Formats: sequence, structure tokens, C-alpha cells
Amino acid sequence: MTTVGILGGGQLARMLALAGVPLGLRFLVLDPSVESCAGQCAPLQVGGFDDEAALAGFASKVDVVTFDFENVPASSAQWLAQRVPVYPGPRALGIAQDRMSEKSLFRELGIPVPAFEAVSTRAELDAALAVVGTPCIMKTRRFGYDGKGQFRIKSLADADAAWDALGAQAQTVGLIVEGFVAFDREVSVVAVRGRDGEFKAFPLTENWHVDGVLSASLAPATRVSEAMQARAIDYARLVAEATEYVGVFALELFCQGETLLANEMAPRVHNSGHWTIEGAEVSQFEAHLRAVLGLPLGTLAMRGHACMLNWLGDMPDANGVLAQAGGHWHDYGKSPRAGRKVGHATLRADTPAALSGALAKAGQALSRQAQVQPVIGRLAEG
Ligand code: AMP
Repeated sequence: MTTVGILGGGQLARMLALAGVPLGLRFLVLDPSVESCAGQCAPLQVGGFDDEAALAGFASKVDVVTFDFENVPASSAQWLAQRVPVYPGPRALGIAQDRMSEKSLFRELGIPVPAFEAVSTRAELDAALAVVGTPCIMKTRRFGYDGKGQFRIKSLADADAAWDALGAQAQTVGLIVEGFVAFDREVSVVAVRGRDGEFKAFPLTENWHVDGVLSASLAPATRVSEAMQARAIDYARLVAEATEYVGVFALELFCQGETLLANEMAPRVHNSGHWTIEGAEVSQFEAHLRAVLGLPLGTLAMRGHACMLNWLGDMPDANGVLAQAGGHWHDYGKSPRAGRKVGHATLRADTPAALSGALAKAGQALSRQAQVQPVIGRLAEG
């Protein structure tokens, strides 16, 4: 009996456990909160990620360790890795935790990135603005997620306001200034690399964000040339090989015509891959477990067309989705809170037209027309 240990007990851990039960796997989730929603589906150990006694107890009960949450202290990942296999490894995790080191790696690998500069003082902000230009975005290097810890600098006149907003974090988590990309769309590659180096990727997914948080994903992304698809997957492969990555990760990219610019990598299963549960032969969650356990990865082939809609704050009425052909519902079992990811729906169909029809019906039934409209518009473009 193999037990997979997961650091972090959110919806990603929950969906990993749900994917692993048919494979005969046991799970143990470590999280500081007794409320962790993964605890409804798998045994939960309540403890801090930096609590050595908690980590020791956890390590003694599991055969392999993986993550639902990438901001686990690097020292904890290293400590665990001396006792039990940890995938992805602490080095890959460390690179992905810091926007500066991940962007530097992308650049080294020849992957296009927006202009970027590290900033640790007010004077360095001025110097960075001179190099990067405006408009640009200042972000925290570490611990930023879902658009948090970001400030948009439209012109040099905004520099003081940006420093007022984020300057206090310059010495703790560090800051980075990045050129603002006027993208046509945002896409991601969700990819997996096995222990033996075997590499596979799902087709490019298009993503829509609202206030920096993912709202909808469409797979496969429409109007993607073979060359662009191959390039995106090559970028993901380069990153995976350079970091000796094991498991699933997402590479988020901005598209400007045929040009792809890398934004960031997420060293874990990713929200833009949730559609794979119903929309692919092997889901990202199962693929991740297969990878970290050294099992054959299988095929990631798509089943038709899929759109995932995120539910933030509170859950809408499930019937609006369950009544649609190909409608699937995921309630994470969390209590409602403004902006919190509490669930998602996936609509799957054999054709773009059928997917568009199902989205229109679900959008109307749930009064979420604004959320589905960009996806319907994209599908109509063909
Ligand atoms: P991030 O936390 O870096 O993924 O940023 C969240 C969202 O902010 C992205 O999905 C984009 O919609 C937007 N964003 C982040 N960085 C940039 C950039 N350099 N240029 C334009 N938009 C950006």
C-alpha cells in the first residue's frame, strides 16, 4: 500500500486524492488548518510546514511527498527530501518560488520573457523603470498569487504610489518590475515529466482572468498554429529538463500574435488544468500521481472540447450546469468567503458548437453571462 503525502490541504490536494483512490493509493495531507478541504477526502495531519516534529511524523507515514501549495519553506522541502522522495524536488520548487529566478531561467533557456529587473530600494525602482519603461507591473518576487502583491505602473508619475503600496516588502519577499505585455490572450501549457524523464503535455489552454484571478479556461485553445503549439510545448520541456522536474506543472504564457512570452511557472497541478478531469484521457491529477510514483504516464489526449468555469466567493446553483449535456460540477466543500476559490464546473462537448451551446445555457441558468461570454466569443471565431 503506497501512501502519498501532500503538503497543503486545499482543493488541489483534494482532487489529487480523488484521482488517486482508483489507483489504490492512500494519502496523508499536512496543513496548518483543521478546516482544510482536502481533509474531507483524505486523512489530515494538522501541523505547520516549518514544524520539525510535524514534518518528522508526516515523513514517517508516507512513501513519497508532493505539494498542493508551492510556498512551503524551501528548508522544509529539503529536510523532507533527506528522508523520503520529494517531487517536484526542492531545487525546482525553489526556482518557481521566486519570480526573479524563474524569469532568469526562462531567459537562459532562450524562452522569451517581458523585460524585468529586480528592485530592493526606492532608487533601484527608478533605475528599473528607466530600463524596463512604462507601462509596467511591480510584483512581489515571492508569495504573490492570483494577482495579489502587484501594482500597475502606468507612467513614471505612479512610482511613488507603487513604492507606497509594495516598498515595505522590498526587504522581505523582494520586488520585481516587469514590462507590461499588451497580450491578445493568455494561454498555459500543463505538462508532466516522469521520474525517468518522459515528458508529455496537454494541448494549449486559453485562460481568462478577472482581477488577476482565473475565471475561465478553454481547451484546446482555438486558432493555435502547429508551430505555436510545438513552441509552447518545447518551452515547457526546456523548463522541465533544466529543473529536473518530476510531476505536473503549468507554464503561463502571454500571446502576441504568434509570439509567446513566459509569465510564470506553477510547480504543481494548476487551475488551468482542471478541465482535464473530464476532458482528457488521463487528468492532470492522475498524471501527477503517475509521475511522482514512477508509473507509466499514459496518454494525455483530449476528449473533445472543454471549458472550465471557476466559482469564486460562493457556489452557484449546481443544476444550471448539471442540466447541460457534458456538464460537471466540483464543489470543494469550503465555506463561502469573498474571492475564495470554492469550486468549478467543466462543460465538455464533442464539437466547439456544442460546447458553445452548453456554455450559453449554463451562463443563462446561473446568471453568469459575463463569465461565459468571452469563451463563447472565442469559439465563434472558429
Ligand atoms: P501573475 O500573478 O503573474 O500570474 O499575474 C496575474 C495576472 O496579471 C496575469 O494572468 C495577467 O492577466 C496579469 N499580468 C501579470 N503580469 C503581466 C504583465 N507583465 N503584462 C501584462 N499583464 C500581466
